[in-house]
Amino acid sequence: MKALVYEGPRSVKVKDVPDARIERPTDVLVRITATNICGSDLHMYEGRTDMETGRTLGHENLGEVVEVGDAVDRVRVGDLVCLPFNISCGFCRNCEQGLTAFCLSTNPDPRMAGAAYGFAGMGPYSGGQAELLRVPYGDHNCLVLPEDARERQTDYVMLSDIFPTGWHCTELAGVLPGETVVIYGAGPVGLMAALSATLKSAEKVLVVDRHPDRLALAEQIGAIPVDDSKVSPIDRVLEETGGLGADCGCECVGYQAHDPQGQEHPNLTLNNLVQSVRFAGRIGVVGVFVPQDPHSPDQLYRQGEVAFDYGLFWFKGQSVGNGQCNVKAYNRRLRNLVHSGKAKPSWIVSHEIPLEEAPEAYRHFDARDDGWTKVVLHPGG
Ligand code: NAD
Ligand code: ZN
Repeated sequence: MKALVYEGPRSVKVKDVPDARIERPTDVLVRITATNICGSDLHMYEGRTDMETGRTLGHENLGEVVEVGDAVDRVRVGDLVCLPFNISCGFCRNCEQGLTAFCLSTNPDPRMAGAAYGFAGMGPYSGGQAELLRVPYGDHNCLVLPEDARERQTDYVMLSDIFPTGWHCTELAGVLPGETVVIYGAGPVGLMAALSATLKSAEKVLVVDRHPDRLALAEQIGAIPVDDSKVSPIDRVLEETGGLGADCGCECVGYQAHDPQGQEHPNLTLNNLVQSVRFAGRIGVVGVFVPQDPHSPDQLYRQGEVAFDYGLFWFKGQSVGNGQCNVKAYNRRLRNLVHSGKAKPSWIVSHEIPLEEAPEAYRHFDARDDGWTKVVLHPGG
């Protein structure tokens, strides 16, 4: 089968690799028809992880079931399914509580919890930027989609990661109707957090970035765009909130945070949040703060050290929630919002292209080239 393979920093290639197949009786085999490039793929692409060369990338996947293992009861051949990026078992103590991002069964490294397709440090699983994908614990992991998904794949494929992740960020920040929310980052995740805050009836949603095309997408759903290359985002939020600060803040950038001049400051968005969220306000962090080799034992617990203004955070009595999104905790309900037309997450899609054109798309998306917001790949054309 054809697959997009990691060959080294900033080098990916579409190659012929052995077909994915059923390996365990609980597996489901899916023919992928839509698979996204994600900001998280760039951690591998840019060579910031210990990703093995030759592995297939891709954790935002949707497709049709073509084969099921002997122990699969619920999912059937022909079903159109969306796969959470987290691979989880459904029966460990974390999964039982809905914490599928921290599944204790699917990552073979005993120091780790949680697994994902085509991801460094998240288990041995192949990604879905390919013609076929093996889905472990298929009955648990496949979200079966309604018939309209055949025509609306670009909406439904967002249920694999970024729509639930944006929603999760607003859950971590405890967004309530009538509140003001500030979101740092207008990448796909920040835009989905803005959509989620809007669906939760926030009064004002401010979205901070410096890419005009991305800010325009935030504006399209009624958010207030804040270009931090032109104004201080802290001043702008204080201005909108009578000097109090926002009720809630969302971090949707991660350690790649940089200033508008391009200088990297991994703590910039955290410090801006502490300053622009009110006393006793709440902050959700879904941006990734794990920049280095998760397999290097001496780095396991030091790798993400980021100094931020903990003193002011403490003094303001703010609270924070963070981590990977438990996609299964939300994807069924968000699927229903997509089906009813209340949510159309495909508004951010800038490109729909065949798998063969993925290397070029990675280059543009990595450079945050104008207009390259979200790329959906269609293996098989
Ligand atoms: P992206 O790189 O496309 O978007 C990030 C955006 O942040 C860019 O538009 C960039 O201009 C902006 N930015 C950079 N510095 C900034 C600053 N100081 N202030 C405001 N904006 C700034 O990535 P994405 O796909 O939107 O993902 C965002 C983050 O979320 C990544 O770290 C990704 O790995 C992470 N993520 C986490 C989860 C999870 O489960 N927690 C899931 C998916 C993605
Ligand atoms: Zn993703």
